[in-house]
Parts: sequence; C-alpha cells; structure tokens
Amino acid sequence: MSQETIFSKIIRREIPATIVYEDEEVLGFEDIAPKAPVHVLFIPKNVIIPTLDDLTAGQAPLVGKLALAAANYARQQGLAEDGYRIVMNCREHAGQTVFHIHMHLLAGAALGDFGV
Ligand code: 5GP
Repeated sequence: MSQETIFSKIIRREIPATIVYEDEEVLGFEDIAPKAPVHVLFIPKNVIIPTLDDLTAGQAPLVGKLALAAANYARQQGLAEDGYRIVMNCREHAGQTVFHIHMHLLAGAALGDFGV
C-alpha cells in the first residue's frame, strides 16, 4: 500500500509550495532546499509511486511526462541552451528522502558542484 508523503499535501494545497507548472497529471514546484540556482521537482499528481523501482510498465509513460514537463519548463525559462540536469533518486543509497517519485530539475549554473 502506497503511503502519502508531504508531496500529497502540496498537491492538495494543504501546505504552501511555489508551484511553477501544472497539468492534469504533473505538478512542478520549487524545492524547499534548492541545491542549484534553479531546483524544481516534477511529480505525478494522481498516483503515489514510492520509488522508481515500484514503477510498472503501465505507469512508465508517466516518467516520460515528468521529463517532458521538466524539458518544456527549462526551455520556457531560457535554461535549455546552457543546459540542465535531471535526477531521480531511488532509495537509501541514492539519498531518496520523499517516497513519492519525483524528477529533480537542476539548472542555472555549471552543475559540476551541484547534486541532490
Ligand atoms: P529526494 O532526496 O527524495 O530525491 O528529494 C526530495 C526533495 O524534496 C529534497 O530535495 C527536499 O529538499 C524536497 N522537499 C522535502 N520536503 C519538501 C517540502 O515540504 N516542500 C518542498 N517544496 N520541497 C521539499
């Protein structure tokens, strides 16, 4: 059984977040502790998938939608030409702390020193 996380409260607007992107399936909001000048998280709105390891084949298009939302946002913000980094952490060794899959978009500087 998938458990709710803090991200469910953000989706329901029960806690504040700076939302920068939304469509029927994806929400994008600024990370509360940014690790780069631009740090946005893209998450599925309608399903809780705890980790990438829990993703089913049927749910796989959703990850493409997260990536497309991140890429479109980066382009719209003028970040695409210089480039950006997309990260998904899976479980403890990757440092995953919120168990509702999310795609980090990091941008706004040369990212050699920036990680999540
Ligand atoms: P993870 O380490 O699981 O890949 O990434 C989780 C991210 O969620 C972290 O970068 C962390 O700063 C961010 N985060 C955790 N709690 C909140 C919150 O309440 N609001 C926002 N906007 N970001 C959060």
